[in-house]
Amino acid sequence: MLAVKTARQAWRAKVGEPTGRPTMVLPITAHSAFIKGARYFDVDLRVLPVDPITCTVRPEDVGAALADLGDRACLVVVSTPSYAHGVMDPVAEVAAIAAPMGVPVHVDACIGGWVLPFMAQLGYDLPDFDLRVPGVRSLSVDLHKYAYAPKGSSLLLFSDADYRMSAFFSYSDWPGYPVVNTTMQSTKSAGPMAAAWAVARRIGADGYRDLVRSARQATEAIVSAVAHIDGLRVVGEPAATLIALAADGPNGVDPFVLADTMKARGWFIQAQPGVGDLPRTAHLTVQATTLANVDEFLDALRAAADDARVLPRAVADEQLMAAAEQIDPAALDLPTLSALLTFAGLDPSGTPSLPDEAAGIQALIEALPTGLRDAMLAGYFSAIFQPNR
Ligand SMILES: *Cc1c(COP(=O)(O)O)cnc(C)c1O
Repeated sequence: MLAVKTARQAWRAKVGEPTGRPTMVLPITAHSAFIKGARYFDVDLRVLPVDPITCTVRPEDVGAALADLGDRACLVVVSTPSYAHGVMDPVAEVAAIAAPMGVPVHVDACIGGWVLPFMAQLGYDLPDFDLRVPGVRSLSVDLHKYAYAPKGSSLLLFSDADYRMSAFFSYSDWPGYPVVNTTMQSTKSAGPMAAAWAVARRIGADGYRDLVRSARQATEAIVSAVAHIDGLRVVGEPAATLIALAADGPNGVDPFVLADTMKARGWFIQAQPGVGDLPRTAHLTVQATTLANVDEFLDALRAAADDARVLPRAVADEQLMAAAEQIDPAALDLPTLSALLTFAGLDPSGTPSLPDEAAGIQALIEALPTGLRDAMLAGYFSAIFQPNR
């Protein structure tokens, strides 16, 4: 959010246009947090496809988008790695195109920021992805992920103090105290910061290196094992500790069904919808603790894949899809949403819980038009957070 706000403010200062709408360039694989930032701060989006094999952004696509946008481009976002597929965008190549055009690059290292540097220390040959790369102006790292700190504090790093000035808010034209906020928070929560500091000190650089070694070892064990599971494949090249599993071939194992058959065996893996020519996948976030259980996990995965292989691929309910075509998401009110959710098998007035078999719901979410499914998801949560259900 703050990276997007910073880019917008720097853009306004540069073009001397106080109220215009700039455009952010990002691959479809960028975290939804950037869409959220764009909506909050009125930034337009130019969403780029990714290479369907590597699932990384093509630098030439970034170049073409920037050439087309001209002065309107305010930011390019890349991920190291991306959440959905765990693969690394080509940071240096993208920055080499954006920098001469005067457009800042943000590196989303929310996952990789606390993993890749330790992998480099362990001897992995990794490309520079951080503020050492000319043209990278901001970089985010989540402490609540691989730094094992509690949620509530995070890092946004800038290449230089000049650019960082656009992140700050200062105001003194009111009768209270002059205000300077260096982040989105005004009064800061010192608790999470102190907790993150304490955890980082307690684990220490050597400790993190050991944790990354274990997490990466488990990741590699899973990647090699999947190569021998009929009907499943790993998407792209997992750069850190995230893995996406897809069906291998048209008759391969459906990741949505696999998530259910894994759940039946006591393991949670995360279903991710197919988008455009990107397949539906099952997401794994591998942590250091996974290593001790990796054989058990792989036994379950092989058995769950056997279970899933003989089950039909999950498809969206035809009646619901037909009904969805009649609906204008902009005109949806809460009672209609509620009726739709009940029809979809998610009765929002009941006790909120996910069904044991969610593949059909995942397929429905995947197939519904974006506006409608976003409205239905929000409607479900609105119903949950309602007194006297
Ligand atoms: C977790 C994550 C984010 C931010 O998500 P939060 O819900 O704000 O924690 C952004 N990018 C990536 C790659 C992430 O994994």
